[in-house]
Amino acid sequence: LFAGPCDFVISAARLEQLPAMDRPEIALAGRSNVGKSSLVNALTGRKTLAKTSNTPGRTQQLNYFNLGGQAYIVDMPGYGYAQAPVEQVRAWTGLVKAYLRGRASLARVLVLIDGRHGLKTVDEDVLGVLDQAATSYQIVLTKFDHVPKGEREARIADTLKALSRRPAAYPEVLATSSREGLGVPETRAAIARLISE
Ligand code: GDP
Repeated sequence: LFAGPCDFVISAARLEQLPAMDRPEIALAGRSNVGKSSLVNALTGRKTLAKTSNTPGRTQQLNYFNLGGQAYIVDMPGYGYAQAPVEQVRAWTGLVKAYLRGRASLARVLVLIDGRHGLKTVDEDVLGVLDQAATSYQIVLTKFDHVPKGEREARIADTLKALSRRPAAYPEVLATSSREGLGVPETRAAIARLISE
């Protein structure tokens, strides 16, 4: 699944532009700078996503990547810019809510959270949107190499505790470091399991 190219398919700003729902898809969400591009690069060994999603003008779009001809990886627009104008936030939630509502082939959203900082208010807002849409999501902690080894277990436990009252949260957290490859095989396995379901 991850051996072949993860090539760019389309940037969609409107739902009519989305590809047919003929295969499962896994979406990735996270605050800008959380390490989303780096994680996809680590998972696929490719640099396509990094280039594409950092292209100005594509930040408010759903970017589709073909994963081995069997699934799509969907790079959702980043959120939580330091000074996100209200309009930008509205555009984000508008597109995302419409997408979540109509996308039967969406298997799960992986919500990336910086392992050093944990869940921020803006992340909680996004989880609220996902809970409301009853879209299954799973937390992926990033940059875990920055978290001292002795604190890692507690960081994961705290995250799980924060999720315990959230109906659509998958009760398992992935802890990753793109830099050190930590949690990368586990994340690949989780995606592969979702696709084969
Ligand atoms: P994106 O905006 O979410 O796509 O984030 P990027 O993948 O571009 O990463 C943002 C910054 O975090 C870059 O400077 C990366 O080098 C850094 N970064 C990403 N992943 C890791 C990681 O696993 N460990 C460390 N230490 N830094 C990382």
